[in-house]
Amino acid sequence: MTGKPRPDVGDAATAPYWEAAARHELMLPRCDRCGLVFFPPRQLCPGCWSDELSWQQVGGGGTVWTFTEVHVPFYDDTWADDVPYVVAVIELDEGPRLLAGIVEADTERLAIGDRVNVVFEDRPERVTLPVFRVVPRLDGGS
Ligand SMILES: [Zn+2]
Repeated sequence: MTGKPRPDVGDAATAPYWEAAARHELMLPRCDRCGLVFFPPRQLCPGCWSDELSWQQVGGGGTVWTFTEVHVPFYDDTWADDVPYVVAVIELDEGPRLLAGIVEADTERLAIGDRVNVVFEDRPERVTLPVFRVVPRLDGGS
């Protein structure tokens, strides 16, 4: 489908995030004063309010903090071809939580605490979205 909303990739606070995603890298803002890595990107550190920030590449591993399976498409039929799909809050190993899709999810087995890794989805809306894929469990489950 076309007509999906496109994030504002030109916003000064978030542009480096989207530029990194286009290179298939996950980068988050890091406070140069207190060391906090945070999300979403913003002009000031949420820990100490410093504006001395830089960008750090993160590993892209994390765990499912919570999730939902979407069955009803939003915005009329914009997502009609995509349902059902999974939207989750991922807690990255570096600490920040971010809202993202989980692709190829086995929703019968998906659970809070599952390990995930970032993958990148190059969208027809000319944006690359960081999304996540579940890491198969070592006990034979998925
Ligand atoms: Zn700080």
